[in-house]
Amino acid sequence: MTDIRNIVVLTGAGVSAKSGIPTFRTHGAVSYWEYDNPEGVRQRHRVEDVCTPEALAGDPVLVHRFYDARRAALAGVEPNAAHLALARLDAEWPGELLIVTQNVDDLHERAGARRLVHMHGELRSALCAACGARRPHAGDLPPGSVCPACGASALRPDIVFFGEMPYRMARIEAAVAEADLFVSIGTSGAVYPAAGFVQMAAHCGAATLELNLERSAGSSSFDETRLGLAGVLVPAWVEGILSVRSW
Ligand code: NAD
Repeated sequence: MTDIRNIVVLTGAGVSAKSGIPTFRTHGAVSYWEYDNPEGVRQRHRVEDVCTPEALAGDPVLVHRFYDARRAALAGVEPNAAHLALARLDAEWPGELLIVTQNVDDLHERAGARRLVHMHGELRSALCAACGARRPHAGDLPPGSVCPACGASALRPDIVFFGEMPYRMARIEAAVAEADLFVSIGTSGAVYPAAGFVQMAAHCGAATLELNLERSAGSSSFDETRLGLAGVLVPAWVEGILSVRSW
């Protein structure tokens, strides 16, 4: 048994699935977002039509509307048992902890997590494409909205699109390099650089654990995989690590 002091937790869309936020749907080589609009009509968008700089440049109305709808949907969802368990870990873990989420919802912080970074941006934030300022944002964000910091008509959703650099990579990589335990929860392991954190952690000597509904793309890189619902697996794992503090 090795004593655990430093923990890095990586979360993905599977953590928020029970709360009613859809994960990606993959059909063959194509990934989709599927969700019901406020009128209850099923919408489907290919990831490249709403999650790339090219999509934003080519059809800003569609892309802004898509994130307006995702932002509005946050009002109707609540943190689930997995978010609450991770917030408990944050409150009670005496060593270093960093929760790195790929999710752009705000359910970890609404559950109470504080040692948290959003590597792929946040729905409730706006980014100025002209000056780079980021600020909290509620409600719709039409294309051409004016940045209060620089006055440019350049506010966009504060979402890291495919092909853009995720946020806070230096801090995340430093935490992964120092981790004694790396835990990946509810992520398909398909999106880099997050999908590579497990190899980095293992290379630096950390134990590695995957909690997911199914084996992820990088499952074989983990020391252990537990399959099931995050709402069941995460509270059980948190209870265990808080009591034994070892691997
Ligand atoms: P993903 O949709 O590719 O994968 C989700 C994974 O979670 C799958 O492996 C699935 O089997 C698993 N899963 C589904 N329900 C689960 C449950 N109840 N318990 C445990 N596991 C469950 O999502 P990803 O890996 O996070 O990566 C894709 C990208 O999608 C990320 O960049 C993220 O920003 C974005 N995304 C974010 C949200 C959100 O903010 N909530 C939702 C969808 C996608």
